[in-house]
Amino acid sequence: MAEREGMRVLITGASRGIGEATARLFAEHGARVGLLARNAAAVRALAAEIGPTACALPADVASWPAVEGAVAAMERAFGGIDVLINNAGVIEPIAGLDAVDPEAWGRLVDINLKGPLHGIRAVLPGMIRQGGGIIVTVSSGAAHTPLEGWSAYCSSKAGAAMLTACLHHEMHLKGIRAIGLSPGTVATDMQRTIRASGINPVSRLDPAAHIPAAWVAEALLWLCGPAAAEFAGTEVSLRDAAIRRRIGLIP
Ligand code: NDP
Repeated sequence: MAEREGMRVLITGASRGIGEATARLFAEHGARVGLLARNAAAVRALAAEIGPTACALPADVASWPAVEGAVAAMERAFGGIDVLINNAGVIEPIAGLDAVDPEAWGRLVDINLKGPLHGIRAVLPGMIRQGGGIIVTVSSGAAHTPLEGWSAYCSSKAGAAMLTACLHHEMHLKGIRAIGLSPGTVATDMQRTIRASGINPVSRLDPAAHIPAAWVAEALLWLCGPAAAEFAGTEVSLRDAAIRRRIGLIP
């Protein structure tokens, strides 16, 4: 199937989990994919597996020069970027506000909040020049609900949700579709870290309740299609049965 033929899609956090599944699905649908993560060996191996329609972009989203360089490299390789998927994220430090290390708290914010800002800031000039683009930022229920031990994660995701709202507010008239996607709980390494912490109700969920990363990939693919234009400026939740049905994940 080639529903997204030729679409140039930059995916952060593409070395494993949701990002890897998303890269594979977009590539299957004919897209050209830029794979950004810190683990250079993992993104190079995935790019080699996908073939010439993929490029590996080893970089740390917390570093503005690194993201700017990665975006420039993808623009050189594919002639531009149509879609940015801000997916890279971390959950740690997990600790109460009376004990959390402020330095580690700040490093999480650099990844989960400044990371999306770096991606947005780097792709926007090219997207505006070409008349539009799509920017999806992976959000979380934690953006809207406090959870014990997750002050850094919750605060960063709340900030990233506002960043999506600001992006829509400033840029929708320039053809930029900004959307947040809250996936619910997903069976990835991040949930293994959460379970090991035992600190709050999410860590005690039955792992069977988590959805597969492939579902989130399907949702991201759908959000980049014509059917999702009406969701510009909003946050879509994959917990919503009506959304799952529209995407075709459930009957
Ligand atoms: P994983 O831990 O499996 O993957 C995280 C990805 O982010 C990896 O590819 C990792 O690559 C990348 N990453 C982390 N830090 C950086 C960095 N500084 N620079 C570049 N890349 C980075 O987690 P998930 O796939 O589950 O998470 C993906 C997104 O989904 C995150 O934003 C997360 O908050 C969100 N989410 C996940 C949920 C879940 O239940 N799993 C629920 C709700 C939201 P590398 O280490 O190679 O850099």
